[in-house]
Amino acid sequence: MRYEGAVYRPPSEAGSLIIQATLGCHHNKCTFCGSYRDKPFSIRSIDKIREDLAEARYMGPIQRVFLADGDALCISQKRLIEILESVNEFFPSVDRIGIYANAGNILHKSIEDLEALRTQKLKIIYMGVETGDEALLEKIFKGATYNQLIEAGRRVKDSSILLSVTVLLGIGGIDGSETHARETAKILTDLDPDYVGALSVIVVPGTPLYEDFKQGRFRLPDPFGLIQELRTMIAESSFTNCVFRSNHASNYLPVKATLPRDKPRILEDIDRVLNTRDQTSLRPEFLRAL
Ligand code: SF4
Repeated sequence: MRYEGAVYRPPSEAGSLIIQATLGCHHNKCTFCGSYRDKPFSIRSIDKIREDLAEARYMGPIQRVFLADGDALCISQKRLIEILESVNEFFPSVDRIGIYANAGNILHKSIEDLEALRTQKLKIIYMGVETGDEALLEKIFKGATYNQLIEAGRRVKDSSILLSVTVLLGIGGIDGSETHARETAKILTDLDPDYVGALSVIVVPGTPLYEDFKQGRFRLPDPFGLIQELRTMIAESSFTNCVFRSNHASNYLPVKATLPRDKPRILEDIDRVLNTRDQTSLRPEFLRAL
């Protein structure tokens, strides 16, 4: 497969065929994100996408496809349906197609639009939430308010599409750490998603967050501060049935739990690490990555 520039996908899409439907990120403003800073945004032509799909046929029957890059749900409804139809045409065996989205992309689609995408096997949307702290959402240029995030999540769920959200440990800095963790637990409860992925901030050169870090305006919590945030988010949130993971390579402590079922066990595990402050239980710094 030929890919243009760096390609990112959620950890749970590791076995999926990745198709670049867009290049870069249409929003491209989040202060912590360096993924697409040097990649001008564009929507790839249907001809190029079909060439990629044709080329991928040698891989045999494909069950899962992920549409990259950053917020590919920004593609117009007509074009997106065309892309999904092409995926289904080349890979009738496909069971699930996934995509990244931000709240703005979702709110540009009606429930009927999302249901039409679901019919074409778009079965999971990965939405960046990062925090439930309203002031922090504005500060990091997430492009959505608390209520807009909730409305976007509700629309996805009402369309019977799985909702997977990411939250970002450490994004409030040391000063905003507790508020960030508590407000994030609150938005997670209100969203009640099917999946949560907790990532940890890595300060990337070239981003506005890096400038704040260099100027001393942003102070990153230490590893145990990040794990304390994770604990608060798990302890103070409430879900119907949610797979909560912090197994992304950016995290110091990988956690995988089905909540609420595993809550007591997982909190016990986290407390053991926080109480002993045992460095050997953490992922080594050199293995951390985005
Ligand atoms: S975090 Fe997501 S929406 Fe924000 S700039 Fe990065 S890719 Fe775009």
